[in-house]
Order: sequence, then C-alpha cells, then structure tokens
Amino acid sequence: MSDITLGIIGSGQLGSLLCQAAKKLNIKTVVISDDEHGPAQNYSDQFIFTKYDNKDKIREFISKVDIVTYEFENIPIEILKSIDKERKVLPRPRINQTVQNRKLEKTFVNDLGIKTTEWAFIKSVEDVKKNKRLLPGILKTNTLGYDGHGQFVLNSLQDIKKDWCFTADYILEKKVNLIKEISVVITRFDNDNIYTYEPIENIHKDQILKHSKIPADITDEIFKKAQFNAKLIAEKLDYIGAMCVEYFIDENNNLLLNEIAPRVHNSGHLTINAFNISQFENHVRAVCGLNNEKVQKISNAEMINILGKEIEEYRSKSFSDVEFFFDYGKKKIKDKRKMGHLTILKK
Ligand code: ADP
Ligand code: MG
Repeated sequence: MSDITLGIIGSGQLGSLLCQAAKKLNIKTVVISDDEHGPAQNYSDQFIFTKYDNKDKIREFISKVDIVTYEFENIPIEILKSIDKERKVLPRPRINQTVQNRKLEKTFVNDLGIKTTEWAFIKSVEDVKKNKRLLPGILKTNTLGYDGHGQFVLNSLQDIKKDWCFTADYILEKKVNLIKEISVVITRFDNDNIYTYEPIENIHKDQILKHSKIPADITDEIFKKAQFNAKLIAEKLDYIGAMCVEYFIDENNNLLLNEIAPRVHNSGHLTINAFNISQFENHVRAVCGLNNEKVQKISNAEMINILGKEIEEYRSKSFSDVEFFFDYGKKKIKDKRKMGHLTILKK
C-alpha cells in the first residue's frame, strides 16, 4: 500500500478518471471543487466542496495531501501559488500561467520555432481593424476559454458587434482551412524520461471535440514533427505530468500548433482501453514520482464524446466486448455538455 495522498483540484470527468487511475496504484485522493455535484467525489477518498478563495478550506485541503495536481487550467494563479508554498503543485504553477494565457502560450511556442496560426493580441475594436489581414478570423478571449466558450467568428469587420466594449483581452487568429486536427499526449517524468503517445486524430463540431481515433491518418513526417514539438515543449517547460498539444493541419500540410493543455485531455480518453497504461495513470505516476513503466499499445481505437441528451440513449444501450461506455454521472443534462464517452477498440 502506497502512503501517498494526491490532491486534485477540480471534480469533473478528468478528475474522476484521475481518481480511478490513482486507486489502481493504491494512491489516495482528495478532490477540492467549487461544484457541489462534481462527479469525481464518487471516486475520490475525500471531497471538499468550497469556493477556491476560502482560505480555511484550502488549508484543510493542504493538510490532507502530499502533492497537488489539477484537472483544468483555469484556476486563479494566486491560489495555485499559495498552495504550492505548502505542497508541491504539478505541473508547476508558472507553466499553467503561461499556457492558460493564449498570448503568452503562442509567444512561447513561436519563440521555439513552432508554427501556430497567424495571430494578434487585441484590446480594442481599433486593434481588430489594424489586423484586418487576419479576417476571416476567430476572436478568442485571451484567458478562460474552453470548448469554444469565449470565441467569436469574424468574417469581416461588419461582424464586430456594436455593444462590444472589449473589457477582456483577446487574440485574433486567422481562420485556418483545416484538413485535419490531431493531438499528442505526452507524459514527462524527468529529463529525457518521457513517454509520448502516438498522435490522435480529432474531429470537432461547434468547437467541441466529438470524435477521436488512432491511428491518425497523417504522413510520417507530420507524425514525427507533432511528437518532436510536444517533447521540445515539455523539456523547455521542465514539465512534470501529462500534457496535451493540439494541432491543426492546413491545406498545404503545415502542422500548426493550436494550443497546449497542461493536463490530461479529452482526446486521450481512448488511452484507457487502447494502452496498458492510460494518460491518467501516467499522469498520476509522474506527479507522484513513480516509475515511467513501459507503455504498450493494445489496440487501435475510436472514441465518441457523448454530449447533452445523447447520454439517455447510451444509458439503455448494450455494448459488445470491444466497446467501453463511460457515464460521467453528471447530475444535470445540459446542451453540449460532455456527459460520457464510448471507446471502441478497432483492428
Ligand atoms: P478551446 O480552448 O475552447 O478548446 P480552441 O482554440 O482549441 O478552443 O478551439 C476549439 C476548436 O475550434 C478547434 O479545435 C478548431 O476545431 C476550431 N478552431 C479554433 N481556432 C481555429 C482557427 N484559427 N481556424 C480554424 N478553426 C479553429
Ligand atoms: Mg482546444
């Protein structure tokens, strides 16, 4: 029996799957969350429901854990840093600070020589006008975006709404004619001690991931470059844990980095059934200082995200022995909310 207790900030499906992976490794979990109904409480050893600015509750959380990680990146940085003074937070708070901010993230990767979409930092309508060359484009809030929240398609300057007052910072990205989207999940334990999963091919609908599969239908060159960039980023950040790099492939077969997630990722759910060690187990292993065990692929696979009401149909379905249905057990069914997923192992 291990005597490590892992603290996890956030209680959604990623938190739930991290708790399940920890359990398999005999690592105890304490989840802290501002969502009273967060499903991870069904899998954690302990659950603390609180607003993140409640100092007493944060103190209680700290007192119960040895090491801290998180399932989502939009946590106020002051909170991560204050926790980090008492218990090590992995991935490091400064990494989260860079990666959750689209301007800092893109600047960092562009400085490494990695291509992204063309983009500009935007604070006002005038800034959009100055960067007209980026239209048709997508205006994205500089921080706090997920699943397409905080994104506006701008086909022309006429699409700028009169009542926009630009109280937040944005970036404007040129709209890419996407041929494909892929992602690479990597787990870094230490210098050069890394496991890189093969690239996963992803299909988004309305900016939300709908479908993932391995193998990705890509050239060898793109395969290698996607993995190489992910490793380079992880090394440069001195990253510990699982990280996902999302890419676009454009009509000229350019590999463009879209964004980095400093955590396990929805596109990596198929690793639970398609590999002997999933992204969740590998993340827990890395942040808790366990060994980088040999990862082996078991099968090709496809994953379908189950959104909103679709879950009702799946709950009454029966599945074959190559189909694995995950119901996140979320209390409320909301339109476009990720409610579960199905992984199908393929030849
Ligand atoms: P989020 O932080 O919400 O995941 P992303 O920036 O990853 O936001 O965008 C979500 C999806 O929207 C992408 O996976 C892609 O399908 C689409 N998208 C985003 N930016 C662009 C772009 N510049 N050109 C074309 N499609 C885009
Ligand atoms: Mg994304």
